[in-house]
Amino acid sequence: MTKIKRIAVLTGTRADYGKLKSIMQALETHSNFELYIFATGMHMHKEYGFTFMEIVKDGYKNIFSFINQRHGMGTQMDLILANTINGFSAYICEINPDLIIVHGDRVEALAATIVGAMNNILVGHIEGGEISGTIDESIRHAITKLAHIHFVANEDSQKRILQLGETQTRIHIIGSPDIDVMLSPNLPTWEQVKARYEVPFDDFGVALFHPVTTSYANMGKYAKIFVDALLRSQKNYIVIHPNNDLGREFIIEEYSRLAENGKFRLIVSVRFEFFLTMLKCSQFVIGNSSVGIREAPIFAKPAIDIGDRQRNRYLPDDKIVNCDYDSEQIIAAINSTKNVNFTPYSDFGKGDSTEKFMKILADGNFWDTTLQKHFVDKD
Ligand code: UDP
Repeated sequence: MTKIKRIAVLTGTRADYGKLKSIMQALETHSNFELYIFATGMHMHKEYGFTFMEIVKDGYKNIFSFINQRHGMGTQMDLILANTINGFSAYICEINPDLIIVHGDRVEALAATIVGAMNNILVGHIEGGEISGTIDESIRHAITKLAHIHFVANEDSQKRILQLGETQTRIHIIGSPDIDVMLSPNLPTWEQVKARYEVPFDDFGVALFHPVTTSYANMGKYAKIFVDALLRSQKNYIVIHPNNDLGREFIIEEYSRLAENGKFRLIVSVRFEFFLTMLKCSQFVIGNSSVGIREAPIFAKPAIDIGDRQRNRYLPDDKIVNCDYDSEQIIAAINSTKNVNFTPYSDFGKGDSTEKFMKILADGNFWDTTLQKHFVDKD
């Protein structure tokens, strides 16, 4: 490879940044690549923790920030999509990248993929082929159909992408890059985390509850049941604010009941590495975040998964328990986590995703990937 390749990476949330971070750092320091970061979405807003500053603190050379939503219109995903297309399209005209990298299933990733596909720029999608609830799943598969290269976590995801008519040669199994960070020896200590986030206790559960867009009409009721169960369980919790999906306001309103209660530490958002240490030192995870499914097993933490936001992503057992929106059931599940002991495991990689990703990009053939895709019929 002779010419330095320009790579534009879009990040729209703390969720995708944690998963892209190790790859971004490898690209930033490699002499064959120039990394251009387009930071947008929840990163840019105080109400979601202004996580843009975490990207800045990580010291990259080229960071562009773009505000794609106004306060009060945070839930209008169609408008966020339109705004992000607008901003990202102008950005790539300036940067003229050889490759665009997106992660996951957020509307911003869809926007960048549309822009790349329609401007004949290669798009690589990380962690497609997974299944879940809410509109996320449709967005994730839509990105797969528009992206040119798929960096997937495991064989199951590869199989689904093939089922969507994609070509085998466009798929690379690399695992989930956040595991690289999870298994790193450089995570902060619990004492550092405790001091930075002013956590007043050492025994606690981590609660993350996001809106389920397709259950918008019931979100107020569901949020109340969740908060009632946390209060009745008599345990300590670090409660992390939800993302900006449709229905967020109901959850925030219910959380106001916890604000003055010493058993709860409410935090808007926690820096990824600090969050990982919190998880590592917790007793269990509760809510409907992917954290319970994807990350908790790696630290051998039991998870209580409520509702269907993570539907089909796992088979419930004593390590990951699924509950309906029912306080009694949730409390019983919390109590059942006490005696759960298991060996850490992951179905999403071994912590070498970045190395695999960089190896694929180092292969000259990668850059000859054709922009024209052909649907592969299954027999
Ligand atoms: N996360 C983080 N800080 C937080 C909460 C979550 O860095 O305060 C990370 C977490 O480790 C996970 C990702 O963000 O990798 C996604 O979690 P979240 O619950 O925000 O979203 P989901 O994936 O369920 O949509």
